[in-house]
Amino acid sequence: MCQRCIDTPIVRQPFARRNFLKFTAAAAALAAAPRAFAAPPSAPPKPENVVHPDAALHRLMQGNARYVEGITRRHDFRHEREALSKGQNPFASVLSCADSRIAPEYCFDTARGDLFVLRIAGNFASDEMIASLEYGVQVLNSPLILVLGHEGCGAVDSTIKSMKDGTTLPGHLPSLVAAVRPAVEAVQDQPGDLLTNAIRRNVAVNVEKLKAAAPMLKAAADDKKIRVVGGIYALKSGRVDLLG
Ligand SMILES: [Zn+2]
Repeated sequence: MCQRCIDTPIVRQPFARRNFLKFTAAAAALAAAPRAFAAPPSAPPKPENVVHPDAALHRLMQGNARYVEGITRRHDFRHEREALSKGQNPFASVLSCADSRIAPEYCFDTARGDLFVLRIAGNFASDEMIASLEYGVQVLNSPLILVLGHEGCGAVDSTIKSMKDGTTLPGHLPSLVAAVRPAVEAVQDQPGDLLTNAIRRNVAVNVEKLKAAAPMLKAAADDKKIRVVGGIYALKSGRVDLLG
């Protein structure tokens, strides 16, 4: 894609005919559900957020570059609040670990109304997370989903230790271990650092899970209405590296 395409907001194309019926049914069902979030009004409160998925990713990474260099923008919170009082149209959705050191709005130098952020320790796509992302895509027209893992993830590390020791963690933590375990198992015989490999695999596993989440996310991804990508946040530098 050329630079002009990346920088120029465009109106996304409608779905292909083969997905129209199932997508319409899904949309109708979702529209009938109670509104858990603010929906976009007829005119998007942030027209600059109506962008192609590639442009959304480019914008995220430009924001991360500013954050890494320490030249983040000054945000006008008062006028942002007023503009967003009637709705929202975020240009990206982020499924991030809950780790307090990550903070997606900061690390991508974004403002209110720009990111639809879901956070859970281990950044895995539970049914509830998938449902929220469906809302972000179908109702809010978010063109990009980023699964964001990070170095030194305690959720992945705890899963590794629980598996090695054969212990069961207290409380509800076993549900977290069960969600992250497939990624650890997939890389436990690979060379290199197990934690690093498992963190990367956990992001990749959940990217693929979201791409395959029928009917909504799969249809949107297949028709290139959205992109689903993964990234790893480096704790010291703040840089997000996308998975290839
Ligand atoms: Zn984490």
